[in-house]
Amino acid sequence: MVQKADKIWFDGQLVPWDEANVHVLTHTLHYGVAVFEGIRCYKCTDGSSAVFRLKEHVDRFFDSAKAVEMNIPFTREEISAAILETLKVNRLEQGYIRPLAFIGDGAMGVHPGDNPIRVIIATWPWGAYLGEEALQKGIRIRTSSFTRHHVNVMMTKAKVAGNYVNSVLAKMEAVADGYDEALMLDVDGYVSEATGENIFIVKKSKLKTPPLGSILGGITRDTLITLARDMGYDVVEQRFTRDELYAADEAFFCGTAAEVTPIREVDRRVIGAGKAGPVTMLLQNEYFKIVHGENLKYAGWLTSYEL
Ligand SMILES: *Cc1c(COP(=O)(O)O)cnc(C)c1O
Repeated sequence: MVQKADKIWFDGQLVPWDEANVHVLTHTLHYGVAVFEGIRCYKCTDGSSAVFRLKEHVDRFFDSAKAVEMNIPFTREEISAAILETLKVNRLEQGYIRPLAFIGDGAMGVHPGDNPIRVIIATWPWGAYLGEEALQKGIRIRTSSFTRHHVNVMMTKAKVAGNYVNSVLAKMEAVADGYDEALMLDVDGYVSEATGENIFIVKKSKLKTPPLGSILGGITRDTLITLARDMGYDVVEQRFTRDELYAADEAFFCGTAAEVTPIREVDRRVIGAGKAGPVTMLLQNEYFKIVHGENLKYAGWLTSYEL
């Protein structure tokens, strides 16, 4: 169960957690058009707290809204300020931030008409998404029987609530079959991403990740591409098949929630040595240093706030 905070920011007001409710005829509840973000804030080593890549998340929030023709009735600056305000009022040193814009009630047809666009920002404490052990030892995954969206069926670059029906189905299938997460292939059969994470493979110290086709352009993916290149690794954005993944030396998922999670087994095939690989762990370690403010080279990615 999610741990309650004091307040939720709702259409410009901070309201008590239990009063942040909507009508059952909320358009989004019926047809799934909402856009959202998942952002993390961390307690830094110097005792301060900071949001990681706030600007990029807020920009993507507005880009997602544009893709689904939703006019968010606040500016980027207002949303950024509201995120920091919500963190402060909830006295959250470290955790997760969930902005969501959705279509309110009014018209009930498929066309949302003049229904209001409503915005919430919720925050809560959240540890490792796939568990602490997953971060150290790696996870077991299976190829999903569900295919990732075609780029002309859904707006795959946008973080849209309705897109997630596909993710929820794949995740439930994987968990029911005893796996930690699902691997999704695109409509051509190439490796795409997981249910809410991007994927990288490592072969002979070279990194490969699928290009921005059917995948969501993850900010963690971008962070790791930048970081790996800065560390001297070759990184290519190129399509690859599941058998290339089976034969990889290392593989990992990444995302704001999952951070950098090693993959130790895919479809019963052991990846590399069957544990978190050395390049994966080096990147994970550097990633954690950056988000905790221990690598000043990337201090520009942190927005600190006072509690
Ligand atoms: C959010 C998300 C990711 C990861 O993106 P980050 O910006 O790194 O958190 C990957 N895939 C999907 C489908 C997502 O929704």
